[in-house]
Amino acid sequence: MSKHDFADCYFCGGVVEEEVISYMRKWKEKYILIENVPAGVCNQCGEKYFEAKVAEKMDDVMLQKEKTARKISIPVIKLQQDAA
Ligand SMILES: [Zn+2]
Repeated sequence: MSKHDFADCYFCGGVVEEEVISYMRKWKEKYILIENVPAGVCNQCGEKYFEAKVAEKMDDVMLQKEKTARKISIPVIKLQQDAA
């Protein structure tokens, strides 16, 4: 994997550094966790940036159920709103 230079963060102007991350994506009411994703991550606000070819690859792989490595369950918590 060649080093890719990301522009500074669009939102906060922070430095965007290349990392390999796990990225949660929603698709048709399902969440899919994609691991081993090369991304640019802002060191200030944590915003993530993907190269076009990586984003395409994620779109692609999400449609391929046979690529599922394992399944995990995640806790769901509903935030209670204070009564007015
Ligand atoms: Zn930022």
